[in-house]
Amino acid sequence: MDEEIEMYEKALNSIGMNQPWSPPYHNACYERTGEKEITLLFRSDGVNSQKMHDEITRTVELIDWEMIDSGGSVLPPEEAAHRIIQSKQDASRNWKCPTDDCEEYIVTMPLEEAKWVNMGEQEMVQPDGQSVSTERWGTNVTCHSCGQEIFMEPNDYAVVAGDDLFWTYKATNGVTYTMLSRESIVDLIDSGAGESLVLTGTFTPFCKDVFPPHMRGAPCLFVVPKGDEEE
Ligand SMILES: [Zn+2]
Repeated sequence: MDEEIEMYEKALNSIGMNQPWSPPYHNACYERTGEKEITLLFRSDGVNSQKMHDEITRTVELIDWEMIDSGGSVLPPEEAAHRIIQSKQDASRNWKCPTDDCEEYIVTMPLEEAKWVNMGEQEMVQPDGQSVSTERWGTNVTCHSCGQEIFMEPNDYAVVAGDDLFWTYKATNGVTYTMLSRESIVDLIDSGAGESLVLTGTFTPFCKDVFPPHMRGAPCLFVVPKGDEEE
């Protein structure tokens, strides 16, 4: 449990002033409104929403932050989820390099070069209160201006990099795997290029990298870098 509180403390400290924050699975959105203060903006009217909000409030108080709660808007779950993605996308355009004198925006960095990192097993508490052990992953993006390595949560990377990059994995041997939609699979097979289709497991077929979880069990197009076709 201590580990979870530590994780929240880290997450809260990393929110910029007046930036939104949506804890994973909660379907609620908060905003940092002070040095150690967050405000509830909206949450869903889902069954456990009030309970989850109370838990966040408790956690926030445990690390000496303050929760400003005037009720916020209570929205249908789909609308809340949509608003969270929207507000994250808007905010992500203003994310900057954390280096003090560097003014680069993360959205302009070489996001296609991001490196996935496996941080090991972690206990996560799900909305139903059940605790499950999951692999924790993140990505490292390197600032093209100052060279700073920036660690990002997978969700944040997905928001700033967009779906096309999020659903692509570049293995250490340079082969890229891109998850395909049903329509793209049909096009690929109809055009006679079905041999570049692979179903993914835990490891990349050639160099045995571990795929990040979202890339497993998926139909992918694999592309071998030019000049390496012999592999
Ligand atoms: Zn930088």
